[in-house]
Amino acid sequence: MRELIEKVLSECKKYTADGRVADYIPELKKACPADLGICVLGGSETVELGDCDKRFTMQSVVKPMILLLALMDNGRETVERLCGVEATGKPFDAFNYSDMALRGEHINPMVNAGAIALCTLIGGEGKDEKFERLFSLVKRLSKNQSITVDEAVFRSERETGNKNRALAYMLKAYGMIDCDVEDMLEVYFKACSISVSCKDIANIALVLAHRGRDPESGEELIPAEYSRYVTAILAICGMYDGSGEFALRVGIPAKSGVGGGIMAVVPGKMGIGIYSPSLDKKGNSTAGVKVLERLSAALDLSIF
Ligand code: GLU
Repeated sequence: MRELIEKVLSECKKYTADGRVADYIPELKKACPADLGICVLGGSETVELGDCDKRFTMQSVVKPMILLLALMDNGRETVERLCGVEATGKPFDAFNYSDMALRGEHINPMVNAGAIALCTLIGGEGKDEKFERLFSLVKRLSKNQSITVDEAVFRSERETGNKNRALAYMLKAYGMIDCDVEDMLEVYFKACSISVSCKDIANIALVLAHRGRDPESGEELIPAEYSRYVTAILAICGMYDGSGEFALRVGIPAKSGVGGGIMAVVPGKMGIGIYSPSLDKKGNSTAGVKVLERLSAALDLSIF
């Protein structure tokens, strides 16, 4: 397994040149475009290779965690009433809803509007408690209590996140959320700025791959029903508006983020974390997708 992953990684390194590091959040521009790291958990061995020790911000990889906590705090009906489950076919930050009224069924938990809306369902008194509860869940599932928030990225997102601000005010204008918009954006921006390694997101993926259980101890960390819900959403729309193509080529439920992370859930088998910050036009890591495509073919990992 190690040799295979080593080979795939060295073959795919060249694809980092096909993309570009995200620059719409100024702090993200500082990433090194040629980085490529991976952690694979759940086979007979743990494999960590390449730039796997580099830390990067979760960005949209945190969206499945927001969804999970919203489900755990409110149950499925409330979550589905606020935020639908169908692929939108639009970019993650789209706010062109002029062709139809903005309603829950028109968004999903993996686009910004859906994730921001779901932040309002996280239990807790104010923005700080809500964020801390989300942060605790991330630390628990990643088995890493020393995870931190990248304050520079957080400030950068807050200062420049006017598209998200517009989206959030639109949610309020359409009566979908009823809260202090700036507070909710703070929870969202901070969540996106949680700084992780490949192993951290591979650990989270491993729990989802085992329907919410820690595969070592057997302990239930997330109700199985919600683990399945989140994994299904990843299969439908986890890779932005490139999810259909990714399903055909790779066939693994996964979530990518503009920080360069991909968290891939191989049901019953593996959790995979990849970091490579050069992105294609849709926001997916160019080399990361290639690595997953080759691993999926070599190890027959497609769920389809
Ligand atoms: N914080 C980012 C934003 O909302 C997340 C984007 C992403 O990774 O898709 O713009």
